[in-house]
Amino acid sequence: MIMSRTNLLGLDLRGLEEFFDQIDEKSFRARQLLQWIHQYRVVDFAEMTNLSKVLREKLLEVAEVKPPEVLHEHISTDGTRKWIIRLSCGNSIETVYIPEKGRGTLCVSSQVGCALACTFCSTAQQGFNRNLTASEIIGQVWLANEALGKDPKGNRVVTNVVMMGMGEPLANYKNVISAMNLMRDDLAYGISWRRVTLSTSGMVPMIDKLREDCHVSLAISLHAANDKLRSEIIPLNDKYPIAELLAACKRYVDVQQRRHITIEYVMLKDINDSAQDAKDLIRILKDLPTKINLIPFNPFPGTDYVCSSKTVILRFQKQLTDAGLVATVRKTRGDDIVAACGQLAGEVQDKTRRAERRLAAQKLVASL
Ligand code: SAH
Repeated sequence: MIMSRTNLLGLDLRGLEEFFDQIDEKSFRARQLLQWIHQYRVVDFAEMTNLSKVLREKLLEVAEVKPPEVLHEHISTDGTRKWIIRLSCGNSIETVYIPEKGRGTLCVSSQVGCALACTFCSTAQQGFNRNLTASEIIGQVWLANEALGKDPKGNRVVTNVVMMGMGEPLANYKNVISAMNLMRDDLAYGISWRRVTLSTSGMVPMIDKLREDCHVSLAISLHAANDKLRSEIIPLNDKYPIAELLAACKRYVDVQQRRHITIEYVMLKDINDSAQDAKDLIRILKDLPTKINLIPFNPFPGTDYVCSSKTVILRFQKQLTDAGLVATVRKTRGDDIVAACGQLAGEVQDKTRRAERRLAAQKLVASL
């Protein structure tokens, strides 16, 4: 019988402790392994010199440390980098690194494709293939650290992670939590919860679960201030309408002690960018501590949507800030290498057709 080896890359502290327990080894080994794998990025057990020779040989038989494989790296004129990562199933996903003054943000994917069928997002047009494993999710952070290393002061270049790549992270809950535990763990990447952000299109029960399970910052893809429009562009809204979503956000910030929620709002010309839309947004957000991030729509082949003009975006922003809200306009980065928000598509081999996809999305939404 051929037994597949456990890939230790995706196991968080608890997962590794369980693993060592199962192979009759002391659980403190988990801490040593975390450091070897994530801090020193050593994948060969033979090099893990503080483990006994016997243990190293045992690990070789039952386990492996296997990061995903980089297919291409693209570097934008603005310094943004995009890695196309090949998965064992033949599909590929994308990870984007965005350098800014004083920080570097890694945009991480959680699924191959996406089932939620948001009409303005290019990932959605690819259909859904599968969830990423925890190894494939944290593997993106591992690879970026391997490629970028540390700055001259010895600090890691990747300072922030946003779960804003391909996929809906809360639809791949367990694996995303393991990966985010690793991002946060001092023995692995040691990133503060303030600098790890999960973005969701609004899976309400999972937001409540996240509040209990893993302390991270939350971003909500709101994109519309009334249910009629939101359901048109984000089908998930039928299941979890705006009022329920914002109530879950309120519960989330109450636990996080005054931490704000980031509200993402993509600017679509003549769709959601009127003065009335801004007024509605001000009304529905008045009781929630938020920072609103207006995202200029990034076009992709086949879309009918157009980005609101700069004048309209700035006017919309002013209306929000005049009402006392915090609103910024997201700088579009990496669009010359198709790495901007909503442009990440990877290559999903078995594309499902539109009608089928819509049906699959509805089924998925119903099952949540
Ligand atoms: N599924 C999660 C994670 C994706 S995050 C979510 O919906 O939040 C990616 C962000 O970019 C989301 O806010 C998404 O709505 C936004 N986005 C999607 N397509 C876009 C596009 N074409 N232009 C600009 N932003 C887009």
